[in-house]
Amino acid sequence: MNRKDVIVVGGGPCGLSAAIELKQIGLDVVVIEKGNIVNSIYHYPTHQTFFSSSIKLSIGDIPFITAVDKPKRNDALVYYRKVAELKEIAIQSFEKVEDIEREIEGFRVVTDKDEYFATNVVVATGYYDNPNRLGVEGEDLPNVFHYFKEAHPFFGKKVVVIGGKNSSVDAALELERAGASVTVVYRGSEYSPSVKPWILPGFDSLVRAGDIEMHFNAHVVAITESSVTIEQQGETFVIDNDYVFAMIGYHPDYAFLKSIGISTDEESGCPTFNEETMETNVQGLYIAGVIAAGNNANEIFIENGKFHGGMIARSIKAKQVVVK
Ligand code: FAD
Ligand code: NAP
Repeated sequence: MNRKDVIVVGGGPCGLSAAIELKQIGLDVVVIEKGNIVNSIYHYPTHQTFFSSSIKLSIGDIPFITAVDKPKRNDALVYYRKVAELKEIAIQSFEKVEDIEREIEGFRVVTDKDEYFATNVVVATGYYDNPNRLGVEGEDLPNVFHYFKEAHPFFGKKVVVIGGKNSSVDAALELERAGASVTVVYRGSEYSPSVKPWILPGFDSLVRAGDIEMHFNAHVVAITESSVTIEQQGETFVIDNDYVFAMIGYHPDYAFLKSIGISTDEESGCPTFNEETMETNVQGLYIAGVIAAGNNANEIFIENGKFHGGMIARSIKAKQVVVK
């Protein structure tokens, strides 16, 4: 029988951190991950540099030591693999949790491969699998992407990047360096304060030099295989174009949260939870990591989401003391 004290759903940095904290208080824990561990980081742009220093990305008191202050994607993949190994975290990878049902004592967790029972469950499924949608004609064409991986294929091509925060700016910079002709279409009226201050000056200088074409107050209204139509202050423009990167953010899987009984605020997308314990409106069902921020991707990161596990461990421990 697959009976555990706690099941952590999602093996991202915050799920792994929660598993470490829960193991440290003597609980029998398994992480169930639908892909490989730190699957979101694995799917980042290949050459991504973190904006956090390595020390802020470290979990479980295991130092993340790098030669430079801000690590790259591959440094983090190596680090989190090593943490999982050193902390002997039980991980069921490539197994997707499809349902979590409340039972009289604990939960039945149903995956695409098996069935488990646990007294408590931590949902740490992040948001990166669910890109936001533009909702315009042509969005599902094969020349439109919601993820950016590498710039090389777009050498000599016309590319529109949609959005005005860190993913858009990073993608636009890398594409320009690789010889693409880049146009950025942003709905805001000026640069977003979320863009990292050490990235913005380089981007702005390319815009001022005419190497990147920047459209503010601009909304995409249609996409074809050879154009992007935008509306800008009451006027319509057609941009001659080959490829589109819609870097417009991500959101938690609301249908999944609803199906397991966790309610969410309609406007913010935030799940209902106790900010001191991370326990949701379903007793014994906790959340950890970026999922707690709902639609706001600029509030919880690895840097602060990694502390949720400690809060959950303290809550579960306190309940055990009361029961004894
Ligand atoms: P995730 O890392 O998204 O992990 C969720 C996991 O759950 C995934 O592995 C997923 O496969 C799994 N999963 C989902 N559904 C299921 C299911 N049904 N069953 C089983 N498993 C499931 N943050 C920082 O602090 N510093 C940075 O410098 C930084 N740089 C970033 C750069 C980029 C390009 C991006 C996109 C994000 C960056 N972030 C950064 C944000 C950071 O990646 C997230 O905050 C972090 O990944 C959140 O961790 P998490 O464990 O909550 O979720
Ligand atoms: P994001 O921060 O959510 O930004 C999304 C952008 O798309 C915003 O500019 C937003 O406009 C715009 N947008 C959203 N919906 C839209 C719509 N329907 N139509 C048009 N535009 C729309 O997403 P992100 O840039 O992908 O960042 C996600 C997370 O990754 C963040 O935590 C970020 O910090 C992190 N990240 C880190 C790095 C790094 O470490 N170097 C790099 C990239 C990303 P508004 O500005 O008006 O909201």
